[in-house]
Amino acid sequence: MSTWEPVIGLEIHVQLKTETKMFCRCRNGFGGEPNTQTCPVCLGFPGALPVPNRRAIEETIKLGLALDCEIAERAVFHRKNYFYPDLPKAYQISQYDEPLCSHGKLAVPTPDGEPVIGITRAHLEEDAAKNIHVAASGRIRGATATLVDFNRGGTPLVEIVTEPDIHDSETAKRFLQLLRQTVVELGLSDAELEKGSMRFDVNVSVRPAGSDELRTRTELKNMNSFNFAAKGIEREIARQIRVYEEGGTVEQETLHFDPAHEESPPMRSKEEAQDYRYFPEPDLVPVHPPEDLVDRFRTEIGELPGARIRRIADTLSFYDADVLVTGGLDRLWSAVVDAGADPKEAANVLANQFVATGTDVSAVDAGELAKLVQARAEIPRAAFDEALAKVGEAGFSADPYLAQKVVADASELDPVIDRIIEANAGQAAQYRGGKHGLLGFFVGQVMKETGGKADPRVVNERVRAKLG
Ligand code: ADP
Ligand code: MG
Ligand code: ZN
Repeated sequence: MSTWEPVIGLEIHVQLKTETKMFCRCRNGFGGEPNTQTCPVCLGFPGALPVPNRRAIEETIKLGLALDCEIAERAVFHRKNYFYPDLPKAYQISQYDEPLCSHGKLAVPTPDGEPVIGITRAHLEEDAAKNIHVAASGRIRGATATLVDFNRGGTPLVEIVTEPDIHDSETAKRFLQLLRQTVVELGLSDAELEKGSMRFDVNVSVRPAGSDELRTRTELKNMNSFNFAAKGIEREIARQIRVYEEGGTVEQETLHFDPAHEESPPMRSKEEAQDYRYFPEPDLVPVHPPEDLVDRFRTEIGELPGARIRRIADTLSFYDADVLVTGGLDRLWSAVVDAGADPKEAANVLANQFVATGTDVSAVDAGELAKLVQARAEIPRAAFDEALAKVGEAGFSADPYLAQKVVADASELDPVIDRIIEANAGQAAQYRGGKHGLLGFFVGQVMKETGGKADPRVVNERVRAKLG
């Protein structure tokens, strides 16, 4: 039996957060009542003429530079023809063989190495409108009707296509996280997965390890979760290996990933080469990005997320560096460390308190946070938690919290503990009879009684001594 190497390529769509749409002056953004942000251009009325959005072009160039792309001296918009209810013109204005950005790369730091993933292209296009299927599931299957909201129609989208350079699901996930962070930092897009402002297609094939052939791939379309993408890739790799080892062939098809089911059912089978009858958009002239503008953008790009992971991993573990940077927290971390906090402690607090909760940290005062991080062991847990929840509020001061001291003195805690044991004689007897799981109950009571000020370590110790 041979061993197999997975081959993965990604196509990522990112919605730009420009004020207006790609080729008209309609508002670009969520929140409008359906079909209120429309005009003859984005509704595809005959004779309406598109005018490109300068901002969208500039932002695509910035992203291209961050991805080490060549910026075209001449880029062309093409018509991509196909019929669908969410596409009133029956063509999408996109870019084809002369995209704005091409031949780039992105190095992806991982715990064991830094694979460089080729960026085939990054181009600009308009989004389609949104189909809303009237069904409990929201899916087309079983729907009684489909409504179309044209507010999204004609909004600017950047599509980023990678080379098939990725060979495991973990690297694919890291690539996507790094790209998302890059896009967010450049201010191009919120890239919010839940809102669909970043979504991706995942192409997967496998080949005998050591060969460099490209076998037939399948595509998982329109994903918006990094974990599901990784899971979908794993599942597809396993399936294709099974097919080959049973002597079968993999069909080129588009699959729908449903995390709730083991199978990824086919959505539609894909032609070998789809005939979109691309031709240059006759209503738009080619784009010639001025050299001095591109040069200026190049100098404006700061240190990118991948480089920061690398740099911070010299001080912290790779894992901590990765969590801080892809969580958008490393700049705050640096400021907190500069203000005197211990680097590892600061990383722990940020990762535990802000990554998981998704807290907006833009208004956090690094100096006050540094004080809290340093005082963490000396102040009551409840005070620490409360302070962290408020650290981003205007005028926040850590001082009142630092004034609260944790009670670690046994002579102060013993009377409280005695009282609680006495009041819970039944549980105490059960504990002594071997039900040691009740320790937590007693500790909890003491913490409650002391308003969260007791040092849980000391309480644990004293309760155990008294009951044992
Ligand atoms: P299309 O335009 O039909 O989507 P592309 O050639 O542009 O096809 O490729 C789309 C994506 O599929 C790219 O990210 C590319 O890296 C990836 N890809 C192409 N061939 C393979 C393959 N054999 N295995 C895995 N991914 C592939
Ligand atoms: Mg594709
Ligand atoms: Zn419009």
